[in-house]
Amino acid sequence: MDITIDLGECSGAALRTSVVALTHGHADHIGGLAMYLGVRSLYGMPDPTIITPPGTVAAMTDLIDSLGRLQGKPFKARIVPAPEFDRTMDLDNGLRLGTFRVNHYPGDLADGLACGYVLSRVTRRLRSDFVGLPGPVIAEARSRDPGIVTEDVLPLVAVSGDTTPEWIAAAPEHVLQARVLFQECTFLGRGRDPQAAQKGMHTHVDELLKLLPLARNRAVVLYHVSQFYRPEDARELINAAVAGVTGPRVHLFDMGDRL
Ligand SMILES: [Zn+2]
Repeated sequence: MDITIDLGECSGAALRTSVVALTHGHADHIGGLAMYLGVRSLYGMPDPTIITPPGTVAAMTDLIDSLGRLQGKPFKARIVPAPEFDRTMDLDNGLRLGTFRVNHYPGDLADGLACGYVLSRVTRRLRSDFVGLPGPVIAEARSRDPGIVTEDVLPLVAVSGDTTPEWIAAAPEHVLQARVLFQECTFLGRGRDPQAAQKGMHTHVDELLKLLPLARNRAVVLYHVSQFYRPEDARELINAAVAGVTGPRVHLFDMGDRL
């Protein structure tokens, strides 16, 4: 899909994508930016696009300027505000990026500090009686009647970023119909209760499972599990928590190396 959503560290796969969309500005979501920009610049890769919540654009611009000064050569990244919650932006490869409201900062989220993302594939269809006609004829007809081209929009992947799970109750329909939902799940119990999760504006698995029946995604992948848990314990706790719960299939994202 040529897009990375969040960049806590810069993996090889992330490095090769030309678009990065950030859910918010916390260190564990943007820590890989310096490496991403530096290595792409070193190898002469095309200037990347960094999509970031509207309220973070100024700080992100300052950060990337500072990184460029430290590098001794400005980074030529295109910094783009993420679409407002009821808008979308089309990427170059037939994908459409939308955002949804999450709950990770105290107070009013209208300041645009955090968002979730949903990626959809857009397929355009030409009305059958125009198929095979020359391009200029179609363009002229379309300028008179845009309806001769219709769009199928298939939501594929949604990513929550950091948030309490309440967003699910108010989520736009298409987000909960994306094939795969990546949902943060910082706390899994065993000494970390739902109040702790609420305080840090994160998700506790017990609270998530109450809302998960609303999700019609084929699969939900839990990620952003606290460093407090060892990977094997996390797997065990999640398996125990989801046993007997109806709703989408729940997976645990590879937790990789821990700090
Ligand atoms: Zn955060």
